[in-house]
Amino acid sequence: MAQHFLLSAASRTLSLRKIYKAGENVAYQMFCEMRWPETGGEAVCPKCSHDEAYKITTRRKFKCKACAHQFSVTSGTIFASRKMDFVDLLAAICLIVNASKGMSMVQLSRDIDCQYKTAFVLAHKLREAIAQEVHTGEVLDGHVEIDGAYFGGHVRPHNEKAKRVDRRLKKHQTGTRRVVVAMREREGRTLPMVAKTEGEGVGFAIENISRDATMSADEASHWDTLHDGWMVDRVNHSEIYSDHGKHTNMVESFFSRLRNMIEGQHHGVSPKYLHQYANHSAWLEDNRRTDNGTLAKIVVSNAMEAPVSRDWKGYWQRAA
Ligand SMILES: [Zn+2]
Repeated sequence: MAQHFLLSAASRTLSLRKIYKAGENVAYQMFCEMRWPETGGEAVCPKCSHDEAYKITTRRKFKCKACAHQFSVTSGTIFASRKMDFVDLLAAICLIVNASKGMSMVQLSRDIDCQYKTAFVLAHKLREAIAQEVHTGEVLDGHVEIDGAYFGGHVRPHNEKAKRVDRRLKKHQTGTRRVVVAMREREGRTLPMVAKTEGEGVGFAIENISRDATMSADEASHWDTLHDGWMVDRVNHSEIYSDHGKHTNMVESFFSRLRNMIEGQHHGVSPKYLHQYANHSAWLEDNRRTDNGTLAKIVVSNAMEAPVSRDWKGYWQRAA
């Protein structure tokens, strides 16, 4: 049997040792090259696009020779007003891309020795950068599987039996339960969305799946509507999981990764950010055969293109 990709040397092209051995200047240079690929890392003014700037090396800043605007490599990106060293930032990205089922923020904060709050916001900013790879705006095609899985809203049963309530009733639920609907090409991308009911997934399919595609879904009755637009293979999970090639196993393996991430690493997440964990998981799923150095570069490059995060800039200052 061929060796599994993740066990091969080709999957390991970046390591913490390499990052720290190369040092801060090399890490900084990498961010410059990712920010300004068209000039090979030479600064380009974000205000007037002029490509000559004075270097204020002591503070790692630039001053545009045309308009005198001062900026840094992270100005206007999700890493704006970052305080972390570039080498630590790169190490954090390496750890995150290596964690194939996600990573708890306590662990990240210990590994790179930063505050929990810093790790939490950093990881969320990186998920925003990753989301651009997942939500490309392109429709899915070929053979597309669709399914939903519920997350959150757990109500702990009362200790004494006499005080326990019927947790199936709406009035006893927390209101934080959500469903992740995922659409996955058998040969390609995974696209997750968050909704309150699985039936909303029909609308997602209409918006995001090519009419030339064929689909697979389980027996849930809300998927019946899909037959109006597509050829749909149905599989009845109460009887069989894979019926002569009719299955939704690809989308199920995405849910398995997402569940491992949320339950194993994060121990439950807010419904407000569930979509970001789903995006993160979809990206890991779609890139499970990409080496870790390439993954880190994709994240840095996306982060350098992502505008200042509205959700996460100054998050803890606002929360305080
Ligand atoms: Zn300028």
